[in-house]
Amino acid sequence: MAYDSNNIFARILRGEIPCDKVYEDEHVLAFRDIRPQARAHALIIPKGAYVSLEDFSARASEAEIVAFHRAIPKVTALIGVNVTGYRAIANSGADSHQEVPHYHLHLLGGQRLGPLLNLA
Ligand code: 5GP
Repeated sequence: MAYDSNNIFARILRGEIPCDKVYEDEHVLAFRDIRPQARAHALIIPKGAYVSLEDFSARASEAEIVAFHRAIPKVTALIGVNVTGYRAIANSGADSHQEVPHYHLHLLGGQRLGPLLNLA
């Protein structure tokens, strides 16, 4: 799947749309989800143009991958879930119902979470 540079997260990265920023560095941006599914719900995205976890994992540089993963504990501390726990979800592709075609990792917590999957 080709990267769509007009997707909503690309527009957030360009500053065309505001976000509730939690963390930023050279390779990564993290912000609160606009429709939170738990009391704490942030998204971490790479600044590079990657469609999905599949695409990011295949094509991103080692520096980008390391930066992305090193950002996770920073963001979980900033949203207050690093001690109590959280769930990390990356929807990738059609079967997952991925809505936004720019790789993002959901970090959800702040409360007891339900079952891992709802197959309905
Ligand atoms: P997906 O289904 O692709 O894994 O998740 C996309 C997520 O992006 C959804 O949880 C949705 O609420 C969030 N989202 C969509 N548009 C915006 C936006 O403009 N700003 C923010 N902060 N989140 C958004």
